[in-house]
Amino acid sequence: MNSEENKNQKKDRAEPAPGVLYLVGTPIGNLGDFSPRAQSLLKSISLIACEDTRRSKLLLRNFGIERPLISFHKHNTKSRIPQILEILKQKQSVALISDAGLPAISDPGEDLVAASKENNHEVICIPGPCAAITALAISGLPTRRFTFEGFLPKKGQERKNILIKISQEDKTTILYESPHQIKNLLKELSLVCGEERPIQISRELTKRFEEQIGPTIKAALEHFTKNKPQGELTVVLGGVGNSKD
Ligand code: SAM
Repeated sequence: MNSEENKNQKKDRAEPAPGVLYLVGTPIGNLGDFSPRAQSLLKSISLIACEDTRRSKLLLRNFGIERPLISFHKHNTKSRIPQILEILKQKQSVALISDAGLPAISDPGEDLVAASKENNHEVICIPGPCAAITALAISGLPTRRFTFEGFLPKKGQERKNILIKISQEDKTTILYESPHQIKNLLKELSLVCGEERPIQISRELTKRFEEQIGPTIKAALEHFTKNKPQGELTVVLGGVGNSKD
């Protein structure tokens, strides 16, 4: 660390600060990715809001973190947000974690962040791994301009429209998909993009059986025909032309 960095380090603000909502990144598999700053903050926070209290309790116990937990998931978002805002108003600090990765990316954290900001509560992110960005970074596809679609609508016209939009996109597109639906998604993408479109599917990022599947939609479909899709998957699709210019 040089002297300038050292000076900045000394200026670090005490955490947790009162009345602040902290978004805290947790590992997407490998526990070694839980940052010391995240652990230290969670050890002294007033309250931790998490998607699945049982799952988070297991993770936190591994790191000796024992703080009060409340559930915050897609089925109780509406009722929980005012409760959490009230806690912030009383100058207590709250940490939001998701089942894995960065909160507010494809989970209801997005609504809590918006509500906190609307009510003038400061929101600070303690960054950690995000499956989308990790998969993009190792895809070998253009990273300079990309678009994130998360999970597509399950079915119907909305899904068809978005698939067509994705097929015409010149930027790299990142998608989340479950192992049960991946073959279906690849067949749909093959119809709208053509089977030779470049694709990289990251499976089980940061975990023991991590692998990359590609390099085309056709090859990925062949792979999942021979190998039963399992584990967590993030899809990175090349754009029209797939140009690096
Ligand atoms: N907030 C999370 C993040 O920052 O990565 C994403 C939450 S989203 C509800 C969960 C989806 O992320 C999974 O269904 C999968 O598509 C993707 N994902 C999570 N962990 C992953 C991993 N280890 N490898 C590949 N994809 C993963």
